[in-house]
Amino acid sequence: MYRTRTCGELRLADINQTVTLAGWVQRIRKMGGMTFIDLRDRYGITQLAFTQGTTAFDQANNLGREYVLQVTGKVIERQSKNPQLPTGEIEIEVESLNVLNPALTPPFTIENDTDGGDDIRMRYRYLDLRRECVRKNLELRHKMAFEVRRYLDEQGFLEVETPVLVNSTPEGARDFVVPSRMNPGTFYALPQSPQTLKQLLMVSGFDRYFQIAKCFRDEDLRADRQPEFTQIDCEMSFVEQEDILNMFEGMTRHLFKTILNIDLPQLPRMTWADAMKYYGSDKPDTRFEMTFVELHDLFHKAEEQKPENERFSVFANAAYIGGICAKGQAVYTRKQLDALTDFVRRPQVGAKGMVYARVEQDGTVKSSVDKFYTQEVLQQMAQTMKAEKGDLILILSGDDAMKTRKQLSELRLEMARQMGLRDPKKFSCLWVVDFPMYEWSDEEQRLMAMHHPFTSPKPEDIPLLDTDPASVRANAYDMVINGVEVGGGSIRIHDALLQEKIFEVLGFTPEQAQTKFGFLMNAFKYGAPPHGGLAYGLDRVVSLFAGLDSIRDCIAFPKNNQGKDVMLGAPSVIDQIQLDELQISVRQENK
Ligand code: ASP
Repeated sequence: MYRTRTCGELRLADINQTVTLAGWVQRIRKMGGMTFIDLRDRYGITQLAFTQGTTAFDQANNLGREYVLQVTGKVIERQSKNPQLPTGEIEIEVESLNVLNPALTPPFTIENDTDGGDDIRMRYRYLDLRRECVRKNLELRHKMAFEVRRYLDEQGFLEVETPVLVNSTPEGARDFVVPSRMNPGTFYALPQSPQTLKQLLMVSGFDRYFQIAKCFRDEDLRADRQPEFTQIDCEMSFVEQEDILNMFEGMTRHLFKTILNIDLPQLPRMTWADAMKYYGSDKPDTRFEMTFVELHDLFHKAEEQKPENERFSVFANAAYIGGICAKGQAVYTRKQLDALTDFVRRPQVGAKGMVYARVEQDGTVKSSVDKFYTQEVLQQMAQTMKAEKGDLILILSGDDAMKTRKQLSELRLEMARQMGLRDPKKFSCLWVVDFPMYEWSDEEQRLMAMHHPFTSPKPEDIPLLDTDPASVRANAYDMVINGVEVGGGSIRIHDALLQEKIFEVLGFTPEQAQTKFGFLMNAFKYGAPPHGGLAYGLDRVVSLFAGLDSIRDCIAFPKNNQGKDVMLGAPSVIDQIQLDELQISVRQENK
């Protein structure tokens, strides 16, 4: 037997027992006649004590960090206890030591507070994963997946695996493709999600399906995106939107309770239109208020009452003027306000400028546009904003209401960050419902499905498909936690004719629709039940629960921002023989 106990479990109650432990050397401290080693395994750290004069002592003094050891000794009470450590009241008085494997000195310290930068840690990810703070995230991830399975199993869901080699789907993100050797010149695509397959499972009568599924999207990467990621993918038959929201609100509640011991209140619901109006975002961070107040009516009225040459052209011509009220922040200095103006002017945000106003202690409003407006107008503005003494008002305006709202949303989040309102330990969850069916794509110059082309319009909006498709609302919903879209789904179309119609609005010819989605539309002709579902991003939920900034930290072997695995050296060139077999020629300059 390699070990009788682990490095995380021994306590005062185990004193005088003889135990055998195995693990890695975290740290060696030589103190004259005594040498101490912190021995680490997955379960924790236990202090080993070696006394001068023993063979084990001599051996211990010749070890290096990360050596793999097996030790046998007696559990004794520690003289100087370490309250930081669960095993901190005991140590092992080592009688025999067996080096199971020596180790090279690791390129960075294997401690929570490591000296290793991002790149080196990714290159040696197997060492990085030895660090407790990283391992904890994967333990949490395991627990999450386990509790998801437990909950869904109890609700009668079946986990079904769907293939990873599928075909390319238009309308989504870019596909990763895999060449087929047996069918030269043709390609599989890796699934962006099991969407159509889970719908086919509903046609097959599976009724309640789920899968913890790997999905692949060839998109530019950000902190919350990886080229491959994991979805908790779910679908149900004979359901309405309400049934799905209830089922998965239940799952979310179960996860919060079992993992964080938090009792989640009933989730509020917000329409997409309200989310955009009050937060400028379809994934509002509702941990704090600072909701938008529209000011165009007020300012336009003030402008109309002024002679032409005294007008503030920025507001006079704006289609949208909106503000947020930062409570108690009138103390912001000119320098801080200039920095905020620079923030909204960054290309990523894209505003032209920012107007601000402070409500002074005597109640007067001092603003950056004092010369354009009377105190009376500014007072009205402060009242509309519900601003009180000591508050700071920040205003953005623009020609395009949607774009300006999104800019104001960035400002709101930044302001909240500066005010410490984005506490990762506080959770605010909600459903955003009634998404539009379509959104206009400037790039493609056409309407695109906002969710995906299988989403059902609201029945009462179906007549608008012919007259005003952009205003059609969908039976689609997202779950949002702390400003992160953690899940989303919809009630699907189960009627082949309506599905054909939707493809038509999206600009597919009947032939194109048949080639790409014939399998689905044909299946619907064989008795498709009404159905709907959703998918959660497992990586996002885990990173939220763990309070992480990036989903990378809860993935065992993530890719970097260039989509590379620097440890494996993937992606990489392949042999000419492999290329020949696949009948693929690679341009010389790419070799
Ligand atoms: N397949 C969808 C997605 O990946 C989720 C769903 O509609 O169930 O976003």
